[in-house]
Amino acid sequence: EGFWRLYRLNVPAHKDPGKDFLGVSLPLLEAVAKVLKFPVASMLPQEAFSIVRKSFDARKLLKEPVFVYTVDMDVKQLLNLEPRTWDFIARLEQKIGLLEYMLHKKESDDLIRVIHDFRGTCSAMDKDRLDILSNEFYRFQSSGRPKIAVVGSGPSGLFASLVLAEFGAEVTLIERGQAVEQRGRDIGALAVRRILQLESNFCFGEGGAGTWSDGKLVTRIGRNSDSVQAVMKTLVHFGAPQNILIDGKPHLGTDRLVPLVRRFRQHLQGIGVDIKFATRLDDLIVENGRVMGVKVSDVWLGSDLKSQIWPYDAVVLAVGHSARDVYQMLLRYNVDMTIKDFAVGLRIEHPQELINSLQYSALASEVCDGRGRVPVADYKVVKYVSEDGANSSQRELSRSCYSFCMCPGGQVVLTSTNPSEICVNGMSFSRRASRWANAALVVTVSAKDFDAFSCHGPLSGVEFQREYERKAAALGGGNFIVPAQTVTDFLENKLSVTSLPPSSYRLGVKASDLHELFPDHITQALQHSICMFDRELPGFISKDALLHGVETRTSAPVQVTRHAETYECVSLKGLYPIGEGAGYAGGIVSAAVDGMYSGFALAKGLSLFQGDT
Ligand code: FAD
Repeated sequence: EGFWRLYRLNVPAHKDPGKDFLGVSLPLLEAVAKVLKFPVASMLPQEAFSIVRKSFDARKLLKEPVFVYTVDMDVKQLLNLEPRTWDFIARLEQKIGLLEYMLHKKESDDLIRVIHDFRGTCSAMDKDRLDILSNEFYRFQSSGRPKIAVVGSGPSGLFASLVLAEFGAEVTLIERGQAVEQRGRDIGALAVRRILQLESNFCFGEGGAGTWSDGKLVTRIGRNSDSVQAVMKTLVHFGAPQNILIDGKPHLGTDRLVPLVRRFRQHLQGIGVDIKFATRLDDLIVENGRVMGVKVSDVWLGSDLKSQIWPYDAVVLAVGHSARDVYQMLLRYNVDMTIKDFAVGLRIEHPQELINSLQYSALASEVCDGRGRVPVADYKVVKYVSEDGANSSQRELSRSCYSFCMCPGGQVVLTSTNPSEICVNGMSFSRRASRWANAALVVTVSAKDFDAFSCHGPLSGVEFQREYERKAAALGGGNFIVPAQTVTDFLENKLSVTSLPPSSYRLGVKASDLHELFPDHITQALQHSICMFDRELPGFISKDALLHGVETRTSAPVQVTRHAETYECVSLKGLYPIGEGAGYAGGIVSAAVDGMYSGFALAKGLSLFQGDT
């Protein structure tokens, strides 16, 4: 340990000091220096080497007879060399793995300190060479394999980890939330005791935002494309039913997603991925415009946060769109981000029976709580509304209003990550057997809608979301109570005075003026689109239909700019922003595909394989 064994060091017989000399001669040091590509043999400390074996080779095929040595090199002794000598040692790193040794031996914090100290003591040294050296400290680790952190265990992070580990990278998967077993208990505590765990909830935790969801696997990126099929087959491999490969509208439901995610985890661990739950990325370690590692804290320790610095060759950022702290952190490093359109609105809930009968008429009786011949009915509506609220056929001049993430036989759930904000979404179980059908009714918003928040630069969309989430919390009156209004009253701009129809939302709803929430033009677009939806689906406007506020996290409000081919961030080397949070996906399947492709691109960049992504 701490020694490197060097083989086949040839010393010409005429230079060798002979059989009685047992030490390390200068000709032997020259042979060592040649192998190490060390320019001045006499600067190598003799005491760092000890001879293990010496034999004589006088075969005819050689130019001249040689003594062949095997030598052990004490790496520590080389580390004690004068700083000036390091300039030469910097050339060794790939050959002898000296830096591998350092990485292997030292704690990561120490390593970073070593680099900084080194920079201090070597002021006369060529800075470029020092930069190369400090990069190499991180690049070559004990295993010699590239060391990659994947941050976030949602679909994008899981698939990126899978691909990278299978190509031979040393992957650490860092997840701020809990493994599904504990996460399930945390979500239960939220539903029953109103305890919101800030790091383990509907958005954060193993499997990402889509684990406690409806598990719809529909995607707009090409159902039959190879990439989508590859994702679907992988899900089947981890326990999804085969029918997702052929279903027009495949879905899993939370009860299937949770064990699937657990099996995915077990597989990743089996191929060597080190998974760190309850570990939050707080900061990046950046040197000379390159990410060299991460600063993480153990969030399970509560207030007594223990920070650690871990070095990596590359960091894949797969944090989803609710990691607003990560966006802020990226801003500190001037990471190039652009405002992105998304959609906001309300979640509407009807009795499932009503939707079944609207869609199926007489056939509705065949649904039988998800056990029948026909599937539980869903719907999907899209309309375009002009800025003045009228029906519009000119798409480019209008906002699109649409139903989104429809959960037949599901329930409305709280997807806040902060107790002073309310936002909702929907989930279901595989049978979709609940009495309710819910869906988001949303309107697209873009940069011009965020003008009032422009002081937040590229994060003005995030502040826009936050504003309406806070308003919703205030309207609900706290304790995670959701403001609600019947569709008929919302259309008439009046408070629902009679008792509200029942809601699947477990933490309670409060009759509120939802038209007070958003700016008028958004409220009007929502009202107008509801009327249009009713024309398409007569009966959609019903006194039994209840609107819940607010649905704001339909997709990321920002895009982190990356290179199309390499997936590397354009403004920060070594960072790979992927998935929904980075603005490159919008749903479970597209996030998984983005994770898969980013894994291929990164594996190619690291020369783990030579193929075409
Ligand atoms: P995410 O799934 O959001 O994963 C990001 C992960 O990163 C999280 O686990 C988070 O804890 C972790 N993380 C964040 N910050 C840090 C940090 N600083 N350090 C460490 N870890 C961090 N999509 C569908 O296609 N079908 C559906 O039926 C569906 N239903 C949904 C229902 C609900 C309730 C919700 C919330 C979402 C639903 N979605 C659905 C959307 C879908 O979940 C997302 O599009 C998808 O999960 C995005 O995947 P991702 O990997 O990009 O990010």
